[in-house]
Amino acid sequence: MAEINQLSPGLWHISLPFQGEQGVVGAYVLTGQNAVGQTDLVLIDPGPETTAQALLTALREGGWDSAQVTHILITHIHLDHSGGVGTLLHSMPRANVFVHALGAPHLSDPARLIQSAARIYGERMQTLWGKIEPIHADHIQVINDGTRLPIAGRELQVYHTPGHASHHVIFYDHDTRELFAGDVAGVRLEGIDYVRPPTPPPDVDLEGWSRSIDLIASLQPAVLYLAHFGAEKETTHLLEELRLRLFEWGELVLQGLRDHKDEATIIADLIGHVEPELQQRAGGDPDVSIRYDLTANYKMTVQGYIRYWQKQHPERLV
Ligand SMILES: [Zn+2]
Repeated sequence: MAEINQLSPGLWHISLPFQGEQGVVGAYVLTGQNAVGQTDLVLIDPGPETTAQALLTALREGGWDSAQVTHILITHIHLDHSGGVGTLLHSMPRANVFVHALGAPHLSDPARLIQSAARIYGERMQTLWGKIEPIHADHIQVINDGTRLPIAGRELQVYHTPGHASHHVIFYDHDTRELFAGDVAGVRLEGIDYVRPPTPPPDVDLEGWSRSIDLIASLQPAVLYLAHFGAEKETTHLLEELRLRLFEWGELVLQGLRDHKDEATIIADLIGHVEPELQQRAGGDPDVSIRYDLTANYKMTVQGYIRYWQKQHPERLV
């Protein structure tokens, strides 16, 4: 079962039951009148196919008709954010899907996206993500840095925020200072003061990510709406801790590569570095590690950094 919470006027948050866990993957719902007096029903990052039925049920329970969904906004095309969109569109014939130009081709032809995810998740692909259906180009609307979206009685501005993914964008409401952050502001689960940098291959970019953190900070948002998970009002603290940890973990992986360690050893080093602090901040709750791992596991994290160092900074490997 999904859980629905209202966050502010016209805005709700749905917790999707991902692999049986609440509070790890969420979607946002916006409603309001558009400029010509029609009602917009907007989803942001509606999640993977494995939670699509739960999302449809949650919409019904919230009193919304999925056939009336007008917009689906995608912060980036990773499967936990948008893998289910092709399937959802069967129930949302009116919806247009808004995605950055660099991500759009992978929605209409997901073959390379599936291939790249399969390298990370292997035989767990089906269990985690289910079916990944292509999205017909007629439903796709390309957005870029600076695009303004007048929807649901608001104006959301698109900012290109690479770092976690080359095509990642955020959606910012300048009037209410609410910022839909996707994954670029990190992973911070509810009830714990700990932000994890999600660094999957193939296009983690530390310099780009740091610039994106600067950009988000310069907007002075009142609240960050994280995909994993929920509202965060301590925005400065979160962003600074994210930046510190992003580079700290990067240095740990780099050192491992310079010492000619193999991937498994570097993963073990990272776990040894992270888990004591995470457990301490979690007050000893063992479930917290499992839930953080569902959003960004250590193997994926290390693989993303290794690829980054090898591709972007081969000079630092020697
Ligand atoms: Zn992601």
